[in-house]
Amino acid sequence: MSEELAGNKSKFIRVWKQIDGEEIKKQLLYIDDLYGTCGNCKKLGLNYIKDKKCPECGTHFKYLATKITNPAEVGKILARIQKENLDLTLIEREDYERANARDAVKDLFKS
Ligand SMILES: [Zn+2]
Repeated sequence: MSEELAGNKSKFIRVWKQIDGEEIKKQLLYIDDLYGTCGNCKKLGLNYIKDKKCPECGTHFKYLATKITNPAEVGKILARIQKENLDLTLIEREDYERANARDAVKDLFKS
């Protein structure tokens, strides 16, 4: 069924999107594979399929950040999100961290 859903027409394409950094920060789960770390309290071993929120601090996850760049591996995560019908957006951890670093530099020059 899920195979059919994914179909041949469905492709994974990287999209640039402007998102509120603070919003991400409050709803972020870092993942390397199936397991991840809460972006808020750093609790380890969270499963993005099962843990819709952090059992430790109650953060409701809406974003997944990953360092995985291999398209096949990323595709697997996206397929899983689709199959389980999860309300999660996958972002590149590097993009996110780079954006944050840029903010930090900006703050530095503010004063
Ligand atoms: Zn947490």
